[in-house]
Amino acid sequence: MNKLLIVGTVAFDAIETPFGKTDKILGGAGTYIGLSAAFFKLQSAIVSVVGDDFPQEYIDLLTDRNIDVSGLEVVKGGKTFFWSGRYHNDLNSRDTLDTQLNVLADFEPKVPENFKNADVVMLGNLHPLVQSGVLDQLESKPKLVVLDTMNFWMDCALPELLDVIKRVDVITVNDEEARQLSGEYSLVKAAAKIQAMGPEYVVIKKGEHGALLFHGNNVFFAPALPLEEVFDPTGAGDTFAGGFAGFITQSENVSFENMKNAIIYGSNLASFCVEKFGTERMVDLKKEEVVSRLKQFKSLTQFDIEL
Ligand code: AMP
Repeated sequence: MNKLLIVGTVAFDAIETPFGKTDKILGGAGTYIGLSAAFFKLQSAIVSVVGDDFPQEYIDLLTDRNIDVSGLEVVKGGKTFFWSGRYHNDLNSRDTLDTQLNVLADFEPKVPENFKNADVVMLGNLHPLVQSGVLDQLESKPKLVVLDTMNFWMDCALPELLDVIKRVDVITVNDEEARQLSGEYSLVKAAAKIQAMGPEYVVIKKGEHGALLFHGNNVFFAPALPLEEVFDPTGAGDTFAGGFAGFITQSENVSFENMKNAIIYGSNLASFCVEKFGTERMVDLKKEEVVSRLKQFKSLTQFDIEL
């Protein structure tokens, strides 16, 4: 089986949406990526850090899905990364209320020996120096390196972020972040500027409006499934990234054509994530539900015009 190495926060989140509010629950980019990638045939490992306030039952959720956690450091006496956010009524935008780096502040990632030759590396949202620290430890060149990031790191670690962006094949950002990173309002211009920073492929996520994949002059668009119920968008971007990277790892094909399918898989998994608070929906999601929704995706986008 091919290997997927995942880096990203494993965290406590407190979320407010128009539908309710949670206390500290399981969250983190690495967590969502891992849960999403677990729907593919692959071996995965998460590199991250938590404090000893992090419950064992949360770690068990990862190991139950065969995710290797030997690179998940538990710092004695340390506090786990904490993020809190409040969504606006449209659920497409949110305010970050609090970000406490805690143990993440001095984290030095350690890639497990047997993942130093990973086929695909998914650098999830986390300090860009941690992301590059992981790339430095690899013993062979992966088939694909994917990077996800957010405005927080653009605001507080831009030079380090630009350095790691140079080293990746694919970057996934949302529309707001693409605009901030490039200084361009048009997403087409933004994608071209970001490609010039290093990554050959740029994925721009547009929440309930789907996702765009740019490669040279080629563009592909995947819609998001129109859902009856959207409860909490937290983690949708990471779940998308986990589905994208998971599918590429399983299929061993890094062509633009195959990335189109990867985007559909990513959108499909993300559509489940938003149906309940936090990781709740991803934890009880069944493979059959994933396949059945993929069929809906196909009929949503298929048409036959004679030209
Ligand atoms: P998303 O909704 O896809 O942007 O991801 C939300 C997840 O990202 C939450 O579970 C948070 O724990 C995590 N998160 C929030 N801020 C940061 C940050 N600055 N760095 C890394 N992860 C973060």
